[in-house]
Parts: sequence; structure tokens; C-alpha cells
Amino acid sequence: MLDHLWSPRFLRRAAGFLYNINLDTAQILPNPVILLTPWIPHVLKFLNPFENYDKTITASDIYLQLFAHHRELYQHFIPVFINSTLSFQLHPSCSIFTAEIRAILHSLSEISNYPADNYIIYSDSLSVLQALSSLHRHSHPLAFSILDLHDRLVCKGFSILLCWVPSHVGISGNEIADIAAKNASAVLDNSTPLQDFKRYINLALHSRWENHWNSQSMNKLRSTKPVVETWPTLTNRKADTIITRLRVGHTRYTHRHLLMGEQAPMCTQCNCIMSVLHILSECPNFNSLRLRYFQTSSISLTDLLGKTPHVHLLPFFKSIGFYPLI
Ligand SMILES: [Zn+2]
Repeated sequence: MLDHLWSPRFLRRAAGFLYNINLDTAQILPNPVILLTPWIPHVLKFLNPFENYDKTITASDIYLQLFAHHRELYQHFIPVFINSTLSFQLHPSCSIFTAEIRAILHSLSEISNYPADNYIIYSDSLSVLQALSSLHRHSHPLAFSILDLHDRLVCKGFSILLCWVPSHVGISGNEIADIAAKNASAVLDNSTPLQDFKRYINLALHSRWENHWNSQSMNKLRSTKPVVETWPTLTNRKADTIITRLRVGHTRYTHRHLLMGEQAPMCTQCNCIMSVLHILSECPNFNSLRLRYFQTSSISLTDLLGKTPHVHLLPFFKSIGFYPLI
């Protein structure tokens, strides 16, 4: 009889939510079984022929010369370039780091289809190369897949090096064999690490919150805080409480009548209902005091009650006798 009340509403709602944020078909990348033994080095070191050069002050030509010299030294290694402009078909929840590390795994996987030989993989993602050179328990799951595949290829007689190249200085694999680029259209494994999902869901929820907040046209707080973000609290608890009451526009003086069943307080000069907005920036009664405390008679709530409240805000309220009524 009560079956309709016990229908899986939460799951249905969850399914709808996942569909709306494009996660209904997403796959979680399982965490690998990690066996990091202290007596075996579990790292993939990378070459950096440019490490002594500061990219901000080094001309592209210097990089090209350095690279030409490096290629002479490693001429027996077949170059494999990871082109960062390749658009792999990854799930939108994938972070840039995941996309870049997956590109390296993809290159290794491509190399495994070729005869055993010397290969050198060029990547412009320093953060990924650094992560691969210092693996630990919490490393990216794909870092372990790379290590595993690398070790298996080494057992088959492959010799594989990783090398960092700076982006946007003209070093590319266009002139020479570019194994990775040939398979640019390959559909990669679409699974995403849990960490990426968490970040993606946080961003999606925040964006929804922001949209909902934007639709609250009558909300008093929104006029001073249009963007959803964390604002610092004041170190003085009393002052912080007062600032919060002013920001939400609810003070004892302006809202007490609701509890007491009385008439709303009126401004006798302007013949309107008293509000924080009226006191702070509208009522001409306080023009001279506004000039004295804020150096202007026309000031917005955002300037007074924004992320950093105006330093003379509370002295202003004390001078008009309103401070104890907040
Ligand atoms: Zn007034």
C-alpha cells in the first residue's frame, strides 16, 4: 500500500543529477594495487636538456639549438612526440594532468606495437614528468600503469627514455617520425580518477549554486555579495555579528516589529520603511555624517559591506545612535 512512498527516490534523483552534469556514462578509474617496495626504485627519471635555462629570458632559437644538440646525442633513440594539441576523446571531468599523463601512457602503448628498439618520449608537461620521477602511494593511478607498462617493455628489450621539451618554442615532431600523432583520433579509455570526479562535481555544484544565487533578485545579501565565495570573518566576534546582520539586512531595529506584531519603523523625513540600505546610502538625514565618515554622501552597500567592510562603518553607526539597535 505504501509502495509508492518507498520508491527509490534518492537513487532516481541521483541518476537525474548525474545525467545533468554529464556523469551518467562516466567510468571511475580503479585504484591500482600498489606494491611499492623500498629495495626497488619505482621511478621513471626524465631528461631535461634545458634545465639551466629560464624560459622567460631564453630565446626560442637557443632552445632549438639545444634540442638539435640533444638529438645528436640521442640519435639512436626514435623520437615520439606527445602533441599537447591532440584532442583525445576524454571525459570532461578529466583534469589537464590526467589528460597529459594519459597521453604518455598512450604513447607507451603505441610503442609496444612496434619492434623492440630505443625510443624517447618528448612531453611538454613538466608536472607529469616530475610526478613520474617521484612515485608514492598517493600518486596518480595512471602513473602506476605507465610504470607497469614501461617495466614490461624493458623486459621485452625496449629502451625507453622520457624527456621534457618546452612548449611553444617550435620544437615539434612534425619534421620527424611522430608515432603518437598518427593515432590522434584513437578513442582512449574514458575512465577518470576519483579525484578528478570530486573536483568536477564540486565545480558543477558550485556553478549551480552560483546560478541559483543569481536568480535571487530580492535577496538583500546578494546586493553586497553577488558571487558565491568564502569571505573572511572579522577577528572581533561582536563586530563580525554586526557586519553579518547588516549584510543580510536583518537587524533588531528593522525587523523587531515582525516578532512584536508592531508597525515597521518608518523614516519620518522620507516617509518610507527603514532599512539598512536606507540608513546607509539613501536617507538624506545622514548625508553630512556620510561625508564625514566616508568622504562622500553617495556610497553603495558594496563599498561599505563588501568583502572588506569600510573601516569607518561601525563608527558611523555609533555616531547616529544606531549601533546598539543592530
Ligand atoms: Zn530617510
